[in-house]
Amino acid sequence: MASFNLLYLPGDGIGPEVMAEVKKIVAWMNAQGIARFETDQGLVGGSAHDAHGKAISEADMAKAQAADAVLFGAVGGPKWDKVPYDVRPEAGLLRLRKDLGLFANLRPAICYPALADASSLKKNVVEGLDILIVRELTGGVYFGEPKTITDLGNGQKRGIDTQVYDTFEIERIARVAFDLARTRRNKVSSAEKRNVMKTGVLWNEVVTRIHKEEYASVQLEHVLADNCAMQLVRWPKQYDVIVTDNLFGDVLSDVAAMLTGSLGMLPSASLGAPDAKTKRRKSLYEPVHGSAPDIAGTGAANPIAMIASFGMALRYSLAMGEWADRLDAAISAVLADGLRTRDIASETAPANATTTQMGDAILKALQSRA
Ligand code: NAD
Repeated sequence: MASFNLLYLPGDGIGPEVMAEVKKIVAWMNAQGIARFETDQGLVGGSAHDAHGKAISEADMAKAQAADAVLFGAVGGPKWDKVPYDVRPEAGLLRLRKDLGLFANLRPAICYPALADASSLKKNVVEGLDILIVRELTGGVYFGEPKTITDLGNGQKRGIDTQVYDTFEIERIARVAFDLARTRRNKVSSAEKRNVMKTGVLWNEVVTRIHKEEYASVQLEHVLADNCAMQLVRWPKQYDVIVTDNLFGDVLSDVAAMLTGSLGMLPSASLGAPDAKTKRRKSLYEPVHGSAPDIAGTGAANPIAMIASFGMALRYSLAMGEWADRLDAAISAVLADGLRTRDIASETAPANATTTQMGDAILKALQSRA
């Protein structure tokens, strides 16, 4: 039986509430002998700050380095708004991304049939949607130097950000996208702005070469990032995997996410390079949402984004794709049955479930698929 080390970092606000629902699924899978999960837990964000005076301790960083997958809840909240910048709750997540070398961010946009009516787009545009945005996460304009604001001395200031990419950064993210496409519908759309940006020219050139040399059997198309944004709201089903840089990925993944509804539904994965010996990638799985202090402690949080993030861990880190499919089917079935937390309620499907009730129903639906 496969054995894995999972590290829970529930964090703050609704983080521990939604993580509790994942823990139930893990405990059941252990009890059934479906896998052997060795689990450990650490503190991150405000809770770590309260305990250690920093956003994540060295001991918990070491646990994250050793884990097969890190499951991260959410961090932050008004209690820590005034703590110094370098120990603020978000610093814990940034440290994890940096030290684990998580350069590839995966954000699926999946439209569950029962929620197709909830989209701001027409039902036929989003129904059955299943696309994946692969965003470069550790390079580009958010990190490039120089990054300055200079006083020009004439009443004017100049702000500079630098968009910079080296060949290896584009090669490795392209490989992640092509590998993923092979497990899906075998198509990659690479989005950049080669018409106005040198990094776009290089991006296009490198993706084209990697495709030709290593992935010729995958369909590749190049699309200008602004056109990609338009196409995403016009006819998103034309895409399978979209690969793009940090800045465009930030924007395009939010656009894609909102095609399918609430923040409480959106999972994500962040992956590092494969280890030379074990081939395992460092990885962290987290819902896209934050700690939602406005609803923390009320039982209103939707646990689906966190549960679906665990599903991504099963698929991408633990080689348990079949169980990931079953978990997705369980989520879909529960939604089809009309179960709704407040964030995904509508006139025709009113809110009728707490965090725990939604988690329990998904576990039950999973058990019926075992
Ligand atoms: P948020 O995502 O926490 O909440 C935005 C809105 O969506 C709120 O109304 C909230 O109630 C709702 N919401 C979010 N997740 C939900 C869920 N699972 N179920 C039901 N409703 C849900 O964003 P925010 O309010 O801008 O930020 C709150 C705190 O979270 C801040 O401290 C912020 O810095 C932090 N934050 C953390 C992360 C992270 O940990 N990765 C991401 C974003 C924001």
